[in-house]
Amino acid sequence: MLLEATGLIKKYNGKTVVDNISFSLNEGEAYGLLGPNGAGKSTTIGMIFGLVRPDGGTVMVEGLDAWQKPLQAKKLLGYVPQEIALYGDLSARENLMFWGRMYDLGGSRLKDRVAQVLDIVGLSERGGDKVETFSGGMKRRINIAAALLHEPKVLIMDEPTVGIDPQSRTYILETVKNLNAQGTTVIYTSHYMEEVEFLCHRIGVIDHGRLIAQGTLHELRSLVGEAGQVSFVLRGSRDGFLEAVQSLPQVKQATLQEDRLVVTTTESANALAAVAATLAAAGVEMQKVDIQEPNLEAVFLHLTGRALRD
Ligand code: ADP
Repeated sequence: MLLEATGLIKKYNGKTVVDNISFSLNEGEAYGLLGPNGAGKSTTIGMIFGLVRPDGGTVMVEGLDAWQKPLQAKKLLGYVPQEIALYGDLSARENLMFWGRMYDLGGSRLKDRVAQVLDIVGLSERGGDKVETFSGGMKRRINIAAALLHEPKVLIMDEPTVGIDPQSRTYILETVKNLNAQGTTVIYTSHYMEEVEFLCHRIGVIDHGRLIAQGTLHELRSLVGEAGQVSFVLRGSRDGFLEAVQSLPQVKQATLQEDRLVVTTTESANALAAVAATLAAAGVEMQKVDIQEPNLEAVFLHLTGRALRD
């Protein structure tokens, strides 16, 4: 186990904002913390990186107690906050040199790392330009570059795509995906379910400071039970098959809406095959099939009764 957070608790003014959160990461994994604004994501990762003092619980990184040995732990961790202080009148490269020295890097090693991290975030060509000329998305990419300077084993990211242009957002998501593919372990917080679906091997769903569910996307989807919908657009005769489809064991519900047969199922793939066979036996032609898997939005709604985004 590379990182293990156990029983994390944080209270502000008597109110518990992180309530007994535990999760762990194997080396190379990408773990997503998904939850709405105010759920406790920032506070949780702040406790992991040593920015927020826990009121309970422990954080172990490579067997090291991160709160007992903060300097050693920080060597293994890279943290990307939403904003870091960048000097607008200094170039991107100069800003990164400054951050590198804070991580005890120097000399040619620092220069090399600055060049490498600028390349990773796709800003090599802008390295000599003053940061004040950068868009919000580019500044966010410099934040990521700064967190990578000391080659951390674990990259911890706090909603890195909030409030930036779609192009930078895509770039950041691809960059994180690549870093993870090359072996960097990732903790990624977001209130965008499609981001954690895209990036993360395992996902913790957090609400009101509690981890209300945890698992792979597949495991979380199966919590919803009522799984996906498959719809079949039919051609020609549409008689004499609805009852047969409704009585299939894989089918929970089937309705015919004009030329569209909509099937609710617990197992989309199996249901699709069974319904297709039933239709063929009844001599009904299919024009088009759509499968809608339940997404994390549905999982969140199922668990909390509320939508993920307000
Ligand atoms: P998220 O990152 O999921 O949006 P946060 O961890 O930032 O959530 O916040 C969780 C809760 O803790 C919120 O209700 C927030 O207002 C509260 N909170 C966060 N930091 C502080 C602080 N320094 N002082 C008081 N309350 C705080």
